[in-house]
Amino acid sequence: MSVLVVGSTALDSIKTPSRENSRLLGGSASHAAVAASFFGPVKLVGIVGEDFPKRYVRLYRRHGIDLEGLQTAPGKTFHWAGEYEVNMNNRRTLTTELGVFETFSPNLPAAYQQTPFVLLANIAPALQHHVLDQMRRPRFVIADTMDLWLNIALPDLLKLLRRIDAFVLNDGEAHQLTKEDNVFAALRKIHKLGPKYVIIKKGSHGSILSGPNGFFLAPAYPLRKVVDPTGAGDTFVGAMTGYLAGARGPLDANLRRAIIHGSVVASFCCEGFGLMRTTRVTHETIDRRVKELEKLVRF
Ligand code: AMP
Repeated sequence: MSVLVVGSTALDSIKTPSRENSRLLGGSASHAAVAASFFGPVKLVGIVGEDFPKRYVRLYRRHGIDLEGLQTAPGKTFHWAGEYEVNMNNRRTLTTELGVFETFSPNLPAAYQQTPFVLLANIAPALQHHVLDQMRRPRFVIADTMDLWLNIALPDLLKLLRRIDAFVLNDGEAHQLTKEDNVFAALRKIHKLGPKYVIIKKGSHGSILSGPNGFFLAPAYPLRKVVDPTGAGDTFVGAMTGYLAGARGPLDANLRRAIIHGSVVASFCCEGFGLMRTTRVTHETIDRRVKELEKLVRF
């Protein structure tokens, strides 16, 4: 089954203590769509400006991503710039230039409206609503967010939580949303806001799924060297949703494996700038890391 991904389609300028790269292909939807594409068909909804390099369009195409929902508008592509501290855990946003995103209104092509799996990657909650309004009875809707929307669009986000099956956020955002220091107490509060499944990401410390069958504690793949973690969260949720859409059988039975696949593909994302490493991933390398993770947690 296919996955519809909506989110930001961006040019990212990223500075780490050792290197700097500008105008890489980035954005939540780009990372999520490429990650999901390893498991099945993906439809992308987003907007780029006239400055968007053709080679990035070719990159999406090489991954078989359907681009009928990618608009090109007069003006500049969304540009985000960030800088990492020496420990690579703390990131500072240097620039957010919305460009064509300022007036973006995603209108879904008719062929997109029946997509069974919907991934509302990080973007303004109003746009996530707008996409959902146009969908016809999707089977599974999962949403991601960021601290910015908790700060400036909380009412929209709270409304969205009532309309989705699964919500993904990081531990800092869970604390911000619930004011709970304890992650399990935070999970309980977030369920009360609507979603049946809640996944809290904890960076290199893995993630926690909470749902009707209880908790699942997923490790992150142990990496010795992180080159650039930008987009790891988007990659995680993209691979997870792609895996779920491609797997046979009931969703509940596949969720744990889906999350492990999310962890694995996200680990590749961290090993290169932007999408450089993710785009070179093969099924064999994914399977190898999944098996390694399996060994790490079996007892
Ligand atoms: P992550 O590292 O998972 O937090 O995701 C980073 C990605 O999010 C980058 O590729 C950015 O282009 C994108 N991004 C940054 N700020 C925003 C924003 N305000 N809205 C949507 N996407 C954003």
